[in-house]
Amino acid sequence: MSNRVLIIGAGGVGRVVTHKCTQAPGTFGAVCLASRSREKCETIAQSLNVPIRTAQVNAESAPEVVRLIRDFEPVLVVHVALPYQNLAIMEACLETGVHYLDTANYESRELAHFEYRQQWDYHERYRRRGITALLGSGFDPGVTNVFCAWARKELFDRIDQIDILDCNDGDHGLPFATNFNVEINLREITAPGRWWEQGQWHTCDPLSRELTFEFPGIGPRKAYLTYHEELESLSRHFPEVQRLRFWMTFSDSYRNALDVLQNVGLTRIDPVDYEGRPVVPVQFLKSLLPDPVAVSERYQGKTSIGCLIAGEAKGRQKRVFIHAPCDHQASFREVGMNAVAYTAGVPAATGAKMILDGKWSSPGVFNLEELDPEPFLAALPEFGLPWKVQETVSDASAERTSQPAAGKE
Ligand code: NDP
Repeated sequence: MSNRVLIIGAGGVGRVVTHKCTQAPGTFGAVCLASRSREKCETIAQSLNVPIRTAQVNAESAPEVVRLIRDFEPVLVVHVALPYQNLAIMEACLETGVHYLDTANYESRELAHFEYRQQWDYHERYRRRGITALLGSGFDPGVTNVFCAWARKELFDRIDQIDILDCNDGDHGLPFATNFNVEINLREITAPGRWWEQGQWHTCDPLSRELTFEFPGIGPRKAYLTYHEELESLSRHFPEVQRLRFWMTFSDSYRNALDVLQNVGLTRIDPVDYEGRPVVPVQFLKSLLPDPVAVSERYQGKTSIGCLIAGEAKGRQKRVFIHAPCDHQASFREVGMNAVAYTAGVPAATGAKMILDGKWSSPGVFNLEELDPEPFLAALPEFGLPWKVQETVSDASAERTSQPAAGKE
């Protein structure tokens, strides 16, 4: 059958993508869901209205992924396991001549550092093989990159500043739980803040800069400057932009709990000796914290992620917030997962559709802002994420900092 899709990763995002792919049989052919443990794939398979194939795979082993691809014969691999597996899966796709899509860029386990370089290095080999790799087809990165491309094409003559604002205003009633994979999430938010300004990277202590932003339909929320991977690709593909930043909201109680965990060393990613055995504190912490998939049912409230873009259009200064609100309970009712996984899984399915429909079919390795934003943004609401443009909203420049001076890299 044509348009067969192999989805790797049976977590929260994997569940949403699998639901969305099987809801669109006109685009997607047979689906195989593979993950480290097959039982998780089976649980997701049982929640669907159509049969899918399931498989066990260790995606850190390129030869295992190659064997699975040769057996199932997909045209595309949608990788929604963990960023540690990106290079092995890209290698397997290259060997077998199959398109590739992911939602987060490569990280090694040992270093809480992510960059696109190793994945961008595949561009020439993918181009010669005639296959496409879409990097970061989630919400942020993903939809945020497409919003920027669309704003440049349709709304502005010149873009000066982009602030990406990510608000999860949901409440699960628990003292502390992460929004998605515990380890990946904590590695991201405990890293130093980093942003792009006047052609240079600047750094600050983790969560030391904050601002309050009025999120449409939610209200004013405090957001903290965080480094996020789309800043790297946007700084490359939008060289004209003077400043690029990313902000994420945290409630005061979340922030306090995070500070305590960090201060006592529980977010460390290096092994420590515990009674003669090496233990990685963040992995131990993961075993204590609620599974983000399991807390989905309890989540009430909304998420709102968007791009606050300022620049010039027709000789006038202009500022817009392009965003897509999403409701936790509505997402749970539809696919059994919270809005955080929903907003990452829907764009993964939308990006997959772009490849399968031939709308984004150039061979090579691409971030989403490099491709035509129109067909993606037309399909996004059909897959469940309507988006909005709001003009003349509050400025994001009124930030506060607990650090006197920002360092330059
Ligand atoms: P989960 O931890 O819920 O799911 C990850 C899944 O991958 C688990 O089922 C896990 O299996 C499986 N897995 C882990 N290691 C391997 C391996 N070696 N081989 C095969 N399967 C493996 O994570 P999420 O669903 O929350 O996130 C998935 C991805 O989506 C992450 O990369 C995350 O960074 C990204 N993401 C992107 C967003 C965006 O907007 N761009 C937003 C949210 C997430 P097991 O359970 O057995 O360990």
